[in-house]
Amino acid sequence: MAYPGSLRYGNGMIAQPVRKRVLVTGGAGFLGSHLCDRLVADGHDVLCVDNYFTGRRDNIAHLLAAPNFEVMRHDVTLPLHVEVDEIFNLACPASPVHYQFDPVQTTKTSVMGAINVLGIARRTGARVFQASTSEVYGDPTVHPQTEDYRGNVNPLGPRACYDEGKRCAETLFFDYRRQHGLRIKVARIFNTYGPRMHPNDGRVVSNFIIQALRGEDITLYGNGNQTRAFCYASDLIEGFLRLMASDDGVTGPINLGNPHEIPVRGLAERVLALTASSSRIVFRPLPQDDPMQRCPDITRARELLGWTPTVGLDEGLRRTIEYFDALLKAGLKSSRS
Ligand code: NAD
Ligand code: UDP
Repeated sequence: MAYPGSLRYGNGMIAQPVRKRVLVTGGAGFLGSHLCDRLVADGHDVLCVDNYFTGRRDNIAHLLAAPNFEVMRHDVTLPLHVEVDEIFNLACPASPVHYQFDPVQTTKTSVMGAINVLGIARRTGARVFQASTSEVYGDPTVHPQTEDYRGNVNPLGPRACYDEGKRCAETLFFDYRRQHGLRIKVARIFNTYGPRMHPNDGRVVSNFIIQALRGEDITLYGNGNQTRAFCYASDLIEGFLRLMASDDGVTGPINLGNPHEIPVRGLAERVLALTASSSRIVFRPLPQDDPMQRCPDITRARELLGWTPTVGLDEGLRRTIEYFDALLKAGLKSSRS
């Protein structure tokens, strides 16, 4: 169903409707709220759906006065009936601490959430985007990871609820496309950071920054030689929008991430330098199934979307440090609101 509105330019010409009704599941989370910001600023009608499991009202409070922004408290494991032109499916806890807190719910969120948004897309004809993950590659034996690598996931381990849930969601997206002709977009997101990360989510960037700002020990798991590649949030959101706007033939999966790979120990050193902190590094056991190396091959995103990250690690860390510094000074009062 097309959006009934249309835009009138100064010269009197009526343009094709560009204002879309967009559903963002997980819209009160870290990435979802940045995506809502962009969509609202671009003039779309945005419906943010979230159950606030890891999302926060504070992340979207500044949008509530916008006439083109609406919020609905809803769990995506339950069906939803809305009329939309595009769907971004981001609902799912993303940090290992949060997704392992209630692993059964994590799998349900990925699998039943996918079925429910695909059902909306089937009924309305909406384009539907899935926030998949580099975790579909597990502890990879191919490096850097290309989209045709099938992964090395332990289906029984503590990360499986997330990894296998996301893998199954991808399967559902491609089966709905084959069976029902849906217009799908599957992004495999690599580690992304920035303002509005949950301060208690246990992810490495938020942990290290908060520890450094508080002068507490920096907890390095294992020997710190495991690698990750960190993408700044605004770069990632630009990738989301380009993928959604791409031709229907571009379904993904497509890696979105920053290919600048560093050891986790290197990240700790950068955070210490940028915060001028006197914290010391302490070593803690490596969690089970923690991937030893991870770095995206983004050739496909470069070629198909003309997308490449632009925010360097130091610049992104500075902005994130500024955010957490302000949050700490406010007494972390917004950490669970
Ligand atoms: P986040 O935890 O901040 O956001 C997830 C949002 O989904 C939260 O607002 C949460 O309340 C909501 N949610 C969770 N379960 C829900 C449910 N059953 N019903 C409705 N809402 C629910 O995490 P994020 O970093 O913003 O991640 C967003 C998406 O991107 C997730 O799907 C995640 O798997 C994916 N992703 C993120 C990263 C990353 O580095 N940030 C990497 C790979 C994939
Ligand atoms: N990590 C760490 N200290 C922390 C939190 C995480 O050394 O306080 C490590 C973790 O073991 C992993 C990497 O940092 O190797 C990234 O962890 P995160 O939970 O952010 O995301 P992952 O990529 O593992 O999903």
